[in-house]
Amino acid sequence: MEELNPFRIAQMQLDEAAEFLQLDSGTHEMLRWPMRELHVTIPVRMDDGKIKVFQGFRVQYNDARGPTKGGIRWHPEETVDTVRALAAWMTWKTSVVDIPYGGAKGGIICNPKDLSEGEKERLARGYIRALGRFIGPKKDIPAPDVYTTPQIMAWMMDEYSTITGYNTPGVITGKLIDVGGSLGRGDATARGGMFVLREAAYINDIDLSKATVAIQGYGNAGQYAHSLVEEMFASKVIAISDSKGGILNKNGLKAEKCISTKLKKGSVIALDGDKISNEELLELDVDVLIPAALENVITEKNAGKIKARIIVELANGPTTPEADKILHDKNCYVIPDFLANAGGVTVSYFEWVQNEAGYYWPIDRVYRELDKLMTKAFHFVHDMRANEKVHNRLAAYMVAVKRVVDAMKIRGWV
Ligand code: GLU
Repeated sequence: MEELNPFRIAQMQLDEAAEFLQLDSGTHEMLRWPMRELHVTIPVRMDDGKIKVFQGFRVQYNDARGPTKGGIRWHPEETVDTVRALAAWMTWKTSVVDIPYGGAKGGIICNPKDLSEGEKERLARGYIRALGRFIGPKKDIPAPDVYTTPQIMAWMMDEYSTITGYNTPGVITGKLIDVGGSLGRGDATARGGMFVLREAAYINDIDLSKATVAIQGYGNAGQYAHSLVEEMFASKVIAISDSKGGILNKNGLKAEKCISTKLKKGSVIALDGDKISNEELLELDVDVLIPAALENVITEKNAGKIKARIIVELANGPTTPEADKILHDKNCYVIPDFLANAGGVTVSYFEWVQNEAGYYWPIDRVYRELDKLMTKAFHFVHDMRANEKVHNRLAAYMVAVKRVVDAMKIRGWV
């Protein structure tokens, strides 16, 4: 459907910000399109001896503020438009937290569940062979995303280092610790989300120790968010879900039990509680809703039925532009995706800084610096919302787009 094309949504969101910022048409047009797109074909020798050919993308959206940065998704339904939208969002994400990067995203059309470990390794290395000359610690720095892991990042880093002829850990982040990964990268997306949730709750006068929470999606971000809301705020998570469905238990669901059930049984629906659908989870009467799965789950159809007071968008693109307005009118405080989930790329930045310096930080420094950057970004956006009387996503766009525009102007591009 045209209206749910993620790149169209990304462009529409930008258009609104451009209007509020009164951007001239040339500057606006420059930001509506990726600066560079690569489409590669990757032959992989499968375990049965036959060659299978995969298609991959890397979209480098804008590098005015620094080398482009963003994850690589392995997804059976990957499209170039999804990658474009996500690359645009990375540009706003690195800008809103004010780290010295532009934005990019990569994708390979594949179903990782059908691949053996050896096939995954050959696919990862093949992608880097195809793209190697276009990425690098000073050019474009990939990272994990949907269905890609620290092990995959380590293979990619190794392949790239073979091409350059020397160890180049700074080409990719989200690596395993033993080959230059940073402490704290594993739960960084969720932890960053908790820091901004803490600020939003304070502003909205919500006591998180008495709050109820629902989490949609139980991958990396969803699981860590569950553990961290318990650990940091003692909030009560009453519903969680994954692609197979959801569970509601008003007495509270404990993270440890839920995560071990998910690992052992493959889904959270094996837990005790009432079975609910993913759609029902979004409409529950909770204080905090955390969408941590995929795009376009909150639309004009269900936004009016959402009861949460704060939404922390750990997923990329969970809310459509129409839904944003409905939520704002209902006084629901949305922490938009590219702010709420910026903790991942922020710790990726710390990882890259450590790789480039060859000096590694203790965990408490990672947490402290992450808190500092996320809290600062949150208040920039909140102040923009208050001054301009706009909804949060638009406020976040205005902060982020303005910084990219300033860099483009200073460089003399526009
Ligand atoms: N894939 C993550 C994101 O969407 C992390 C990107 C990165 O660490 O570069 O923000």
